[in-house]
Amino acid sequence: MKKALTIAGSDTCGGAGIQADLKTFSAHGVYGMSVITAVTAQNTQGVFGVLDVTVDIIEKQIDAIFDDIDVDAVKIGMVSQTDTIKTIASTLKKYSTKNIVLDPVMISKSGYDLLKPEAKEALISELIPLATIITPNAPEAEVITGIKIESIQDMEEAAKKIYDLGVENVLVKGGHLSLESKEAIDVLYNGQDFRYYKSPIIETKNTHGTGCTLSSAIASNLALGNNIERSVELAKSYITIAIENSFSIGKGVGPTHHFY
Ligand code: PLP
Repeated sequence: MKKALTIAGSDTCGGAGIQADLKTFSAHGVYGMSVITAVTAQNTQGVFGVLDVTVDIIEKQIDAIFDDIDVDAVKIGMVSQTDTIKTIASTLKKYSTKNIVLDPVMISKSGYDLLKPEAKEALISELIPLATIITPNAPEAEVITGIKIESIQDMEEAAKKIYDLGVENVLVKGGHLSLESKEAIDVLYNGQDFRYYKSPIIETKNTHGTGCTLSSAIASNLALGNNIERSVELAKSYITIAIENSFSIGKGVGPTHHFY
């Protein structure tokens, strides 16, 4: 059985964060493990509070896994603050971790800061160089690069700039852009070539946790032995079907559906 680890925040309502990641791993037939970086109180309507887990306990959680278990892929999600980021980076380096998928979580769809603004620099200098692939959406790519993203060309330019920060592959997700083609186009850059992944834009309000789900689907596929291009392709079709089957569970933005 392949084994994947998520290092991320907990989402009480189960649509994003650790809970989405573990459901995604299971749906791929991958054994899921978790290091919890923060506990959020949230539902489909918003985030009402966050408790950051201490760096000491984050380090002990990572050590507990790697001292005992072989990990085939790691997904990193909400990391919240500078000290947390530095601890995760130094601990993962100690174990020469492979297949690291970094989802640079910054702001929830409901507008809550899940990454403290001052922690952005640490994310860029400490975590990006460790990652096999980073998966920013267009607004996150704008924050990382300072490039205003309105077109595929802007996504390509941002991907190149992020690649130069030391990551092996960059997937800039275009779902937030209103392109003329009415498609969600993601751009993958590996330092040499661009690849384009297209899917129809699905009209639904229930998109809570889509970024978490896509990144943990990529991690699952890497754990299963697929290369980056194939892992992104499989993950893109997984998230598209998950959004097509998304549903309402409360008064706000509902979750996507996890199955294979
Ligand atoms: N909560 C946690 C713990 C997350 O990691 C994330 C996403 O990345 C979110 C909430 C935000 O979810 P969304 O913006 O998809 O509603």
